[in-house]
Amino acid sequence: MADDNCAVGVDIGGTKMIVSFVSSQGQVIVEKETPTGSKAGPDEVIRTIVTEVERMRGRSAEKPHSLGVGVAGQVDERGVVRFAPNLDWRDVSLGPPLAGALGLPVRVVNDVRASTIGEWRFGAARGVRDMVCIRIGTGVGGGVVSGDRLLIGDSNAAGEIGHMTVVAGGRKCTCPNSGCLEAYVGGWAIAQRAREAAKRSPAEAAVLLRRAQVKASGLDAGTLWQLASDGDPFAQRLISETRGYLAAGLVAIANIFNPRLIVAGGGVVGSTGQFFEEALAAARPQILPSIGESLRSTRAQLGANAVAIGAAAWAHEVRRG
Ligand SMILES: [Zn+2]
Repeated sequence: MADDNCAVGVDIGGTKMIVSFVSSQGQVIVEKETPTGSKAGPDEVIRTIVTEVERMRGRSAEKPHSLGVGVAGQVDERGVVRFAPNLDWRDVSLGPPLAGALGLPVRVVNDVRASTIGEWRFGAARGVRDMVCIRIGTGVGGGVVSGDRLLIGDSNAAGEIGHMTVVAGGRKCTCPNSGCLEAYVGGWAIAQRAREAAKRSPAEAAVLLRRAQVKASGLDAGTLWQLASDGDPFAQRLISETRGYLAAGLVAIANIFNPRLIVAGGGVVGSTGQFFEEALAAARPQILPSIGESLRSTRAQLGANAVAIGAAAWAHEVRRG
């Protein structure tokens, strides 16, 4: 393999960090997982990345041409992490010190955008020019590829589909808005809605809680899905309402971006059987016919290292221009 065919991809997670050398075809050449150690502060995290990359460069025949970093948070175009709640970072300059220490061009990207790029270039949406990636976990994140280009936006933040309004004046979100898609279908919101519903219908909820052998605080999406599948009416109602909110979001995503493919991933999607596909089926009659006809969905293909692979894919992409 030629020297210039490899990029470094880094995923800085709340607790662990992944550093990978990834080929221009998406193959992971070498990979290391290490604790993030974010409590020691950003300088220490930067030092750890530099140490790991130097070690890999020493051992590997591949010499990376650039480096991409995925971070859960808002990142600006200069490589500054504006806000990353999991790391407790505000206005941390990440790109410039890494570029200085490693002598490589560095691109910093939001983690869900990174996994979108990974799926687009190396995963479930390979070869697709118009796609939307939606990841429903604790929060709801996304990324949009339109006309074979990642949508970036004026301040590097386009694609926040979790924060589209689905209910005007609705539930308070973690962002300044109310009624966001995330405030209904994010993992935290499903659990919160379940607890509130249990308070409203204690008798019905008691049956469910006994069957699931959990407290109301343990009602996550996967548990509710399982109970709904077993015929529990309380769980079925919550799942059905949640499906309705997600369907509303999917109608908007389809009509605004006209994607050929929606790639779905994240913990909530992974733990709830065909919930996502059912929500899209429920959305279809409301989607403009000219848009709905060619629209398909699939599941994300890249696994636990999706962000690292995607960050490297972004480094390859930027280089290609
Ligand atoms: Zn929001």
